[in-house]
Amino acid sequence: MPELPEVETVRRTLNELVAGKRIERVTVTLPRIIQRPEEPEAFAAALAGHTIQSVERRGKFLRIILDGLVLVSHLRMEGRYGVYKQDEPVELHTHVRFHFDDGMELRYKDVRQFGTMHLFAPGDDLTLPPLNKLGIEPLEEAFTLQAFKKAVASRKTKIKPLLLNQEHIVGLGNIYVDEALFTAGIHPERTPDTLKAADWSRLYDAIRATLGRAVDAGGSSIKSYVNGQGEMGMFQHELLVYGREKEACRSCGGPISKSVVGGRGTHICLRCQPLPKAGKRANQVKQAAK
Ligand SMILES: [Zn+2]
Repeated sequence: MPELPEVETVRRTLNELVAGKRIERVTVTLPRIIQRPEEPEAFAAALAGHTIQSVERRGKFLRIILDGLVLVSHLRMEGRYGVYKQDEPVELHTHVRFHFDDGMELRYKDVRQFGTMHLFAPGDDLTLPPLNKLGIEPLEEAFTLQAFKKAVASRKTKIKPLLLNQEHIVGLGNIYVDEALFTAGIHPERTPDTLKAADWSRLYDAIRATLGRAVDAGGSSIKSYVNGQGEMGMFQHELLVYGREKEACRSCGGPISKSVVGGRGTHICLRCQPLPKAGKRANQVKQAAK
């Protein structure tokens, strides 16, 4: 599933291709993609005549800003956008087509059919589902070490599912959580109360650095991901643990293992990301209680 770096790359590439284009009409051939307004006919009618101003992002959602409307779209597993000439053959699994008045069109293709589109009046999209409960953006200035700790430090859950929860911090998925936890040397099953000041600082830096570098590389193409211009990302070549089960850790040479944490396949180097010993932790708790 595309995470922040992939969606940000789609946003950038798409923005260059569609900003300024006026939609003449819209064709929906798979109604279930359209979440709001629920009727594809209403969706298509509302968009006709509107001009795309820019493509923005909130978490893993694209926000296509038009004059007087906002189209919020999630790619889920394998959704992808592309811009084509209207006379180009339409590929299989193309479900929504935005026909522009200049002979081009934006096509949404989705083999798995899990992607979504919601149409809102400007401003409403940020105050209504699915965007209203989203947490802090990790690449924006507001994401300071303090804001990071405020978002997750008081929670009782293991750190990996905490980081995956979009209501705390947006944009991190299975790939970048595993990468950031490895970079910070933190075992994914640790709980926030076991993290010391230095751990928080390393994890904060690792999240920013991992996401920043992945955006610079155009995201990771693991299965089917391509950007808005049909190009693959390059960050899959730089991954340290994700997808490297049984391979050698790039830091210590030990084996990368795979287990399940919070219901998700998780890649760990147990040498670089040790779990604090239970006895030691119990002693710490005793000392804290004194
Ligand atoms: Zn290692």
